[in-house]
Amino acid sequence: MEIKLPKTIDRKPWLRYMMGKGEPDDQLKEKMDEAEKLLLEAAQPRGIYRILGKEDVAMEGFSIVKHLEGCDQVAVLAVTIGSGVDHLVRIYELKNMAMAMILNAGASVLAEQTADEAEQAMIREIREKYGQKEDWKERDVFFTPRFSPGYGDYPLQYQNDILHYVDAARKIGITLTPGNMMVPVKSITGLVGIADHPVKGRLATCSECVLRSKCTLWSQGEHC
Ligand code: SF4
Repeated sequence: MEIKLPKTIDRKPWLRYMMGKGEPDDQLKEKMDEAEKLLLEAAQPRGIYRILGKEDVAMEGFSIVKHLEGCDQVAVLAVTIGSGVDHLVRIYELKNMAMAMILNAGASVLAEQTADEAEQAMIREIREKYGQKEDWKERDVFFTPRFSPGYGDYPLQYQNDILHYVDAARKIGITLTPGNMMVPVKSITGLVGIADHPVKGRLATCSECVLRSKCTLWSQGEHC
């Protein structure tokens, strides 16, 4: 699947990762411009997906089950912006910690934006494929938004299953450490529900979300 790298990194979530609700001064704005250039040069987006029957995808947790309600198939997706970004952050950790933090936060946002691009590219491809099937010609195909392990009460360790389903280690170079950390670090996995009727999915509530203790949005009274 071909994925286009975004041309810019969204400043709003990037700032939120670094400083909550505050406004950046001119010096920080300049550093972010510099970091954006470095990140866009270092990033090498890659992504892969596979369509499976919902019953063939291992999952647990109220939030993912509710999210996929009404879907009979699931697109399993894995995306990375590559090890060059990890390398860039590590170099700056040795010589300029403040810049390393700006780069790290920017890389997280870039990975999310790239996963959004990949999700849209995947949906376009699936629509095309379904459109060619005789029994789907008169029907449409509908998708839920992406839902990732570690969000809601869908346990993080299911990343391992997703990477296995798409053969991510061999095909796009994503592996998992024993502590469930993906390498390259700025990689994203998720499930997208597929149905033959409109489906919206369901966002997790903050009360069921395992990210709550670390979530800057929740601590500011907002929701993702
Ligand atoms: S805002 Fe934070 S705690 Fe609430 S659902 Fe989203 S990620 Fe979880």
